[in-house]
Amino acid sequence: MSLYSLLYDSLFLPLAAAARRRRYHQLRAFLERSQWWPAERLREFQWSELRKLLEIAFRSVPYYRRKYADVGARFEDIRSWDDFRRLPVLTRAEVNRHREELFPADFRGRRMPHATGGSTGEPVRFYRTRESYDWRLAATHRAYSWSGYRPGERTLYLWAAPLPTVSRWAAWKSCCHDLLERRLVIPTWLQNEALWQQAYQRALRFRPRYLVGYVSSLLGFARFLARRRARMPRLCSVIAAAEPLTPAVRAFLSETFDAPIFETYGSREFMSIGAECELHCGLHLHAENLVVETSSREPDQPGDILITDLHNLGTVFIRYAIGDAGRLADRPCACGRGLPLLESVDGRTADLIELPDGRTVSGLFFVHLLKELPEVLQYQVRQEEPERLTLLLVLARELSAPSRALLESELRKVLGETPYEIRSVARIPPGPSGKHQPVVGLRASAVNARPSEIP
Ligand SMILES: [Zn+2]
Repeated sequence: MSLYSLLYDSLFLPLAAAARRRRYHQLRAFLERSQWWPAERLREFQWSELRKLLEIAFRSVPYYRRKYADVGARFEDIRSWDDFRRLPVLTRAEVNRHREELFPADFRGRRMPHATGGSTGEPVRFYRTRESYDWRLAATHRAYSWSGYRPGERTLYLWAAPLPTVSRWAAWKSCCHDLLERRLVIPTWLQNEALWQQAYQRALRFRPRYLVGYVSSLLGFARFLARRRARMPRLCSVIAAAEPLTPAVRAFLSETFDAPIFETYGSREFMSIGAECELHCGLHLHAENLVVETSSREPDQPGDILITDLHNLGTVFIRYAIGDAGRLADRPCACGRGLPLLESVDGRTADLIELPDGRTVSGLFFVHLLKELPEVLQYQVRQEEPERLTLLLVLARELSAPSRALLESELRKVLGETPYEIRSVARIPPGPSGKHQPVVGLRASAVNARPSEIP
């Protein structure tokens, strides 16, 4: 850790939080300790926070009062995790439709409006409180700390989310914040050779110790470096955000940047949801701030990811279907942290391709199939006409004969008679929200909710 980062993190940030009467620092210290609690103790803490939240929801959040009364659920009946799991799921559409009924009727604090980035889908609009922001910022900093990062370390961000239009005052504040925190943020939603050349030149001058980016941006930059046989200044770690990371991409990034890759999972609604520790065996979830479940009955089977935010009374999210599919891990991590693990985030549940014969193929089919091909760095399934599918592949090297045979036989099994074409391309442009879109279908909904915010 550099001297600057030590002073910034242990002196400046706590003083700044105290001066603004914020709880960030206490929460950060708490999360640093609680991650080492045994899993049972964390579960008990989570349950007591959840009971407090449910009591508020049942008694004074108008929408939940109605929703739960309709299914005959009463607060007194929620005595176990199984009881909790019987509560109905909250959808993105419900949040948008009932936003003004999703906070306690007697809430008097400030609620800050926020929205997820939407591309072809509708963004989710919600509120968050200062209290919840302190929780999520502390959780994000804890998650990043597992890669060795501390606030104040020189960090290059390759960030693909289009930046919102803000006032000059807000832009100035953000610029000062970047300077103090020693962040260089390079927007990457429009990627081309000139952008990467400029990013590389700036990186050489800035000498970052950490690199944080959307997976697709890291991939674009790494491919540029590999083509030019150029090397980045020595990095401690690379933090991959916002999009699923396949083993082939991880290996390519790690080799090109010559640094370990840490996968993270976050969203605009909750900021950091989970991240890898130094052992890289699943994503540790922030159990003190969130309850993360899946719709699957078996703990380690894939299902829709459902999230409850224990501390945001601005918009109360209980069992919210975030729109991703994933698998929980039913095992402890050898690092000794008691935090539960998410085995993998598989992709967007809303990505669908409708075939001419009326059948629908989930985008997750392509996720699982293409994960098996070590040559594939990135892909996109495009359906521009009902009867024609194009599979664009960005390849690290040419497909081997066994890979091609596997790809063609699996596609044929699922697509039947629908004609398709496989095309190798140099790059795939991102979607309108800046994120890589694995499926662009006639009916595909590409609602983007996953880019976590820059902390
Ligand atoms: Zn661990």
